Amino acid sequence: MTAVLPARPSAAERRAAPSLAAAVRDLDRRRARSRQRVIGASELGECRRRAAYRVARRRPTNTRTGLQAFIGTELHRGVLRALRRQYGGLTEVGLKGEQVKGRCDWWHAPVVEDLKTTSRFGFERVLTRGVPVRHWFQVAVYAWLLRTGQTADRRLPAGTGQDVDGLRLRYLSRDSGEDVVFEAGSDPALTAEALMWLTDVYATVEDDGVDAVPRDGFGPGVDAMCDWCPFLDLCWGPPVDPGTEGEVSRQSRLTVTDADYVEAVHDYDAWRAAETEARRHKEYARERLRGRSGPAGGLHCEWSGGALRTQVDKDAAVERLADLGEVVPTRTARSPRTIRVTRTGTRPD
Ligand code: SF4
Repeated sequence: MTAVLPARPSAAERRAAPSLAAAVRDLDRRRARSRQRVIGASELGECRRRAAYRVARRRPTNTRTGLQAFIGTELHRGVLRALRRQYGGLTEVGLKGEQVKGRCDWWHAPVVEDLKTTSRFGFERVLTRGVPVRHWFQVAVYAWLLRTGQTADRRLPAGTGQDVDGLRLRYLSRDSGEDVVFEAGSDPALTAEALMWLTDVYATVEDDGVDAVPRDGFGPGVDAMCDWCPFLDLCWGPPVDPGTEGEVSRQSRLTVTDADYVEAVHDYDAWRAAETEARRHKEYARERLRGRSGPAGGLHCEWSGGALRTQVDKDAAVERLADLGEVVPTRTARSPRTIRVTRTGTRPD
């Protein structure tokens, strides 16, 4: 399956785009002043607070990795080996610049590829929402480091620029073995944007401290990137006491003052309204697509389901058990906590 990035930026857009030279200069200045550590390209564009913890050399508080991650790493290694044996090129190329470092998955001149092994859900998300910009940042920065000879790999002469002209991201579903490839031309503007993102993090750490750098995740249980973040406890505090679950969450620690409370209630109300309106628009578009399928300008539409299937009739099953004099099996579970935000009839000040 191949998906190609639509519409490369026009010449005018490129002129308006941030300059790579200026971005490198800015970042050098910031780094030289703060003498902070060089961060990995894979963390660019992910979460500014996480990058801030890295540049400030904070010690990770949550280092557990799940079995899924372990399987992902092993699969990743195996797939890269297979690609190299089949097509040649270099895999796991060490890169190190003054500003960022990284390990490029596969350089098959002139294209730089990054491979992402994903769960079924992650794969579906890429198909429906496209490539997250942070993944383009990552591969663009690898391409830039290689092209400018900023390598740290005994297979390549340091300081010698390599032939790079093209970026590729391959997503491989761990569950189905399906893969999808997205391609784009090398784009210095993308690299510049990534370096400027990092410069911004350095600037805030330097001027106002780590805690002033915004969190880009909404916390555990809401964003998976927080659930697996190595700085989860540092960022959101220790886990809540299991006895108080339902009444307290780590995020609720942010609601301290009355003003925080009012803001959170209004936030809830605003996003609920946006959700309702978005659902209405989506349903309208869906109805307009009934009976139609096929490609549609960079997207693809298809319908599935609708077949008859047999399900357990729970009511009838309970009735039958009662008729037979059997005790209906039960288990005790806590009902979900629900929230209800309503208007009070008075206008806010
Ligand atoms: S826990 Fe979430 S918000 Fe905090 S640093 Fe990690 S990813 Fe960012």
